Amino acid sequence: MMQHGPESALDRRMHRVTVPVDARAVLTINLAALRANWATINRKSGSAECAGVIKADAYGLGLDEIATALRDEGCKTFFVATLAEARRLRSIDPSIVIYVLDGLLPGAAAHYAGFDLRPCLGSLDEIREWAEFCSTKGQRLRAAIHLDTGINRLGLPAAEVDSLAATPDLLGQFRCSLIMSHLACADEPLHPKNRQQRAAFELLRAKLPPAPASLANSAGTFLGPDFQYDLVRPGIALFGGRAFVGEANPMQWVVELKARILQVRDVVEGDSVGYGASFTCDRPTQVATIACGYADGFLRAISRVDRSAGAVGFIGPHAVPVIGRVSMDLITLDVTGVPPSLARRGAWVEVLGSRTTIDDLTDRAGTIGYELLTRLGRRVHRVYVDGAAPI
Ligand SMILES: *Cc1c(COP(=O)(O)O)cnc(C)c1O
Repeated sequence: MMQHGPESALDRRMHRVTVPVDARAVLTINLAALRANWATINRKSGSAECAGVIKADAYGLGLDEIATALRDEGCKTFFVATLAEARRLRSIDPSIVIYVLDGLLPGAAAHYAGFDLRPCLGSLDEIREWAEFCSTKGQRLRAAIHLDTGINRLGLPAAEVDSLAATPDLLGQFRCSLIMSHLACADEPLHPKNRQQRAAFELLRAKLPPAPASLANSAGTFLGPDFQYDLVRPGIALFGGRAFVGEANPMQWVVELKARILQVRDVVEGDSVGYGASFTCDRPTQVATIACGYADGFLRAISRVDRSAGAVGFIGPHAVPVIGRVSMDLITLDVTGVPPSLARRGAWVEVLGSRTTIDDLTDRAGTIGYELLTRLGRRVHRVYVDGAAPI
């Protein structure tokens, strides 16, 4: 267990939720915005149930806190990737419905059953093993059947659906509580693969006994009622990430990352900043070094070498561009012209938030918001709020 030092008097005076004095980077997670995002998607998806996809520690934001907030907002069904995540989620709430996207790990059926978990069965092999386990137990346990409609990762391909349809005994041994599939290109609303996968889903599920159906992740939900079926499975949109390209993001932002200034210094014109001397100041420059780097999960790819357009942080209203390379523990910023009362040792710089969003940063770095969120490290102190950030 990490021991946190006493809170600073200033933090105590200024804010309701405080951060420990040894926090160098703080990720604030706004649970009110999370709940509002779930409610928005729930409204948008009409009569379909709105589940919550909270795999990978709820996209890096903390399974316990996120699951509890979503459940309190009315979310009853959750999807996680792994058996371990599912067991942890079960310890938070005994009555929610939990699906495991990995499917059934060989020999592990008893572990699913013991925690009332539903595997997303993605092959005939998995279905046979679950059916056998159920018949041995004498219980028709619930599971999802995961059909592959074109993403070619997990799920029964068409030929296996035909075999399954021809084996009604197998289907009779467990309860199929959901027939699901996953879209490959939902973030591109006009991509022809969306319609193709929907058509394949219609065709394949018609071969099986009727069960509630689910096709849409966040982006799929925004493709409209045709894609929403009985249950939608949003993940990234709950956390404020962009679900699709080319349009304004309708979700509220949920995360804000701030890091502390460790030092401020003057660098003369012509001198360089950081590893590789990759950025040379073309004027006298005030440089602030903040306590956040790639070991914290921040993106080294946003490093700014000479003349490239860099990412931007904020000190109060002042935009402060990243200069030089992002290193393991540190980022350097150009704070020239920011009043010294703001750009000072100990002040907080917003590097991610409403003004520089996860998607702004990851577009620049050639990756996606999902990767940034799930890689934010354990060194980053997490704070959960119901509204405004504490710092
Ligand atoms: C991760 C995942 C989701 C959620 O996807 P988002 O794009 O984050 O909304 C939904 N369904 C499946 C099968 C997934 O793996």
